[in-house]
Amino acid sequence: MVAQTLLIDADDTLWENNVYFKRAIAKFISFLNHHEFSPEQVREVLNDVERECIAKHGYGLNSFSHALVDTFECLSPPVTPELHAQILGFASLIENHPIEMLPEVPETLDYLRARHKLILVTKGAQAEQRGKIERSGLKCYFAATEIVPEKNPATYHSLMEKHDFAFHSTWMVGNSPKSDINPALAAGLHAVFIPHGDTWILEHEELAAAPESQELLIVGKFAELREHF
Ligand SMILES: [Mg+2]
Repeated sequence: MVAQTLLIDADDTLWENNVYFKRAIAKFISFLNHHEFSPEQVREVLNDVERECIAKHGYGLNSFSHALVDTFECLSPPVTPELHAQILGFASLIENHPIEMLPEVPETLDYLRARHKLILVTKGAQAEQRGKIERSGLKCYFAATEIVPEKNPATYHSLMEKHDFAFHSTWMVGNSPKSDINPALAAGLHAVFIPHGDTWILEHEELAAAPESQELLIVGKFAELREHF
């Protein structure tokens, strides 16, 4: 196979991420202990509030902290300074967690790096994502790392332009239909979808079909990339 360029997502593609948020949310919901809303209903309110917070503050822990406080304020006002501090404590549980790699990630990256150009493309707050990349020890496998505020077709277009990649030999690899697959296909790239059982609900979207002359692969786990590249 001719050398390809692989743009590779990080959260829930290389390492666990959403599971930490889920644990923090479970703790938050039992702390809130709402008498009329079920945990599922509280979670739905939180999802809506999170969408608003992302529009205002972008992705990341800062946004998540705001969402927890706003959800509490909405369902169980008022948020006293003591409660505020306790609620922020749930978000800070996620900060600086050790990186839990998905199976066979370093050896697969090592295999791929010898054959193709690898670029890490992750979305979120700069300092947070940079911290995770550093703690993962995976940076050495990538020719470049890109931290972007949003992953939409325009993002992929500007990455292609910046690095001067050829569309016919560039693939976006990731777990999110909404951020990794659909916008990359819309931008003219190939894509590899690696579903993660625990993908963040705000990343759910129906998988688009690949336009003619583009390819969409679906693999069961990261290590399977070795069978295709
Ligand atoms: Mg991801």
